[in-house]
Amino acid sequence: MRLRNKPWAEDFISEHPNIVIPNPEDFSGNWGEVFQNSNPMHIEVGTGRGQFITGMAKANPDINYIGIELYDSVILSALENVIKAEIPSNLKLLKVNGEHLLKFFAKNDVSRVYLNFSDPWPKIRHAKRRLSHDTFLKLYESVLIDNGEVHFKTDNRELFEFSLKSMSEYGMLLKSVSLDLHVNMPKNNIMTEYEEKFSAMGHPIYRLVSQFISR
Ligand code: SAM
Repeated sequence: MRLRNKPWAEDFISEHPNIVIPNPEDFSGNWGEVFQNSNPMHIEVGTGRGQFITGMAKANPDINYIGIELYDSVILSALENVIKAEIPSNLKLLKVNGEHLLKFFAKNDVSRVYLNFSDPWPKIRHAKRRLSHDTFLKLYESVLIDNGEVHFKTDNRELFEFSLKSMSEYGMLLKSVSLDLHVNMPKNNIMTEYEEKFSAMGHPIYRLVSQFISR
């Protein structure tokens, strides 16, 4: 997702350090200090404009959420949505690249990773950029609690098949696989912005819940 560049984005973001954490590397292993509690923490890598993570934070006040996004212009929209939704203090945003997760989180910091409608990077030579590539799985495993889960949704069949294979070959347990999530929509499903858009176009939504197995 790329949005029109807004020159004032950087200033607006830095005026809200209580939501977009400016120095996340300072809290590795100590995120309780940021949230002022020791509740479990779930992260979404590639949060976009934050519709999903905002809905989750409202629905689950006893869980801490972090939305991670690469671009200023996009995190700006997410920040505006968080402010509009008047989310209490259980949601923070990071404007960082998911590739650098280990700078910001230590083992056991994270209880669950969400990947929603990740960029598919269809060309083979770009496969390493897919957020379900094993180089990313290694990062998630390094910051998750033992037996931590990855929850993955997409409308992209090729990316879904790639992810099933990648996670299975990594040795993860595939706990739940749905080829059309909206047929039996779980009551607690919070739709992402892309999920709303693509399901309205008639695309099936694929979902996978997988789990790292303690070695
Ligand atoms: N999750 C949202 C949804 O379902 O509506 C947004 C989906 S959008 C297609 C994917 C988002 O992931 C984009 O905003 C993109 O900038 C972000 N992204 C891609 N690679 C990333 C990375 N390595 N680290 C952080 N964000 C990333």
